[in-house]
Amino acid sequence: MKNIATKIMLSLLIILCTNRLYSQYDTGYVARDINQMEQFNLYPSYDVYVQMMERFAANYPEICSLVEIGKSVENRRILAVKISDNVNEQEYNEPEFLYSSTIHGDELCGYNLMLRLIDHLLKNYNSDSYITQLINNVQIYINPLANPDGTYLGGNLFVTKSTRYNANGEDLNRSFPKITEPTTEPLQPEVQCMVDFAKQHYFSISANLHSGSEILNYPWDSFFAYEMPLPDNSWFIQICKKYVDTAHQIDAEYMISDIGPEGYVFGSEWYKIDGGRQDYMNYYHRCREITIELSNDYVLHPDYLDEYWNKNRQSLINLIGESLQGITGNVTNIYGESIPNAEIFVVDKDKTYSTVFTNEEGYYFRYLPTDSIYEIAAYSDGYQTANQVVKTEKDQLVTLNFMLQKGESIYPLPSDESNNDEEPVLTVSSLGGMLQLSSTKTINSVIMVATDGKIVTKFHPNTNKTEYSVNNCSQGIYVIKADCGGRIFTNKIFLSK
Ligand SMILES: [Zn+2]
Repeated sequence: MKNIATKIMLSLLIILCTNRLYSQYDTGYVARDINQMEQFNLYPSYDVYVQMMERFAANYPEICSLVEIGKSVENRRILAVKISDNVNEQEYNEPEFLYSSTIHGDELCGYNLMLRLIDHLLKNYNSDSYITQLINNVQIYINPLANPDGTYLGGNLFVTKSTRYNANGEDLNRSFPKITEPTTEPLQPEVQCMVDFAKQHYFSISANLHSGSEILNYPWDSFFAYEMPLPDNSWFIQICKKYVDTAHQIDAEYMISDIGPEGYVFGSEWYKIDGGRQDYMNYYHRCREITIELSNDYVLHPDYLDEYWNKNRQSLINLIGESLQGITGNVTNIYGESIPNAEIFVVDKDKTYSTVFTNEEGYYFRYLPTDSIYEIAAYSDGYQTANQVVKTEKDQLVTLNFMLQKGESIYPLPSDESNNDEEPVLTVSSLGGMLQLSSTKTINSVIMVATDGKIVTKFHPNTNKTEYSVNNCSQGIYVIKADCGGRIFTNKIFLSK
């Protein structure tokens, strides 16, 4: 009798304790153990997330490596995996593609889908021919969680208490350097590390994953098309349409709404924002970024994760494949030495903000609608500008190399696109170790002088916008003298460390 009573007491105690334990995490939402993530039908706890990212790299060391982009305000890790053959090398002749999700901490669908995409790509290498082709020819970066403090606001075992904002209460997708007036204030840590990450790479296509709606959104977010024409409008429409059409093979209603009856929308036509990552990546890094709004629910119930994965899986894979459909090439001098930072123009199409640049080893990637003929110009200071004609082909990265001869360079765009009667305006700022100048007229020359009269640098940008690394400059006041459209500007700037 006494024994039975003890047993009952013990059982009660166990039930009570278990209940207590269960109330200390999001039952039915969060996996506390990596094995519970096997079916991807939960969200991971923060620790399980880190373990998963580490395990991807450990299990597939030949094609996957872990990258720490930075740390959040509360010191959580902002992680990405790189998936590619020769994963430990930077392969300049391969395009770099970036997926990033959940910059709004409570928009969770993409967080789960990105983990699942990583798993799917890795497991299908050498068995699925298309995925193998992507991994062999693209340097794929996937960052499932861009705002970990927002997601785990309620603690590392909770996602239902998540918030849109970071730990400083800032909306990170409004905190990137703006196109109109670049921020001079310090950036949020989650934004600063993403800015640094973008500067260390040459991403040519990227997507930022959100929730709250079901639609695709392409640039600009901060301008209407008539305010700043988007030369790549038809390319963006082409890739968005393909994404939606593919998803419609699973669910014909998905992404169709009043916002954009076709499933995609020009950002500012939906609503205008400043400081978003999409415009930042497009404008400053010439990376064609789109925004994917995956689910109407912010904290999507895990029961629906399978459904959303099935709707998006092939579209997400195909979007990476857009990296292999356009024009690529190497720009060299007559000795075959590569020319970095050469500017590539699509003649009669590009604006000063839509051209692309060659990377450190002289390679460029320019994405354009298929089955069309384009004239491409390669420009580099001190070389004769070269023009060639090329036809884009479906499912092909057409090669167009340039060999530039020494000589006088002619900038392929009219040196002054704006009204000649207007007075030129110059904006000077420094941000993240870069001195940035932008003007309504062509900036013909820039001289930067220290207070002791020594010239720090002297260069001829011949564009409306330019930047110069001031990382090696000591703290202090500098004078910037610039010729913009024939008018001389003198600005003083203070560089802090
Ligand atoms: Zn969002």
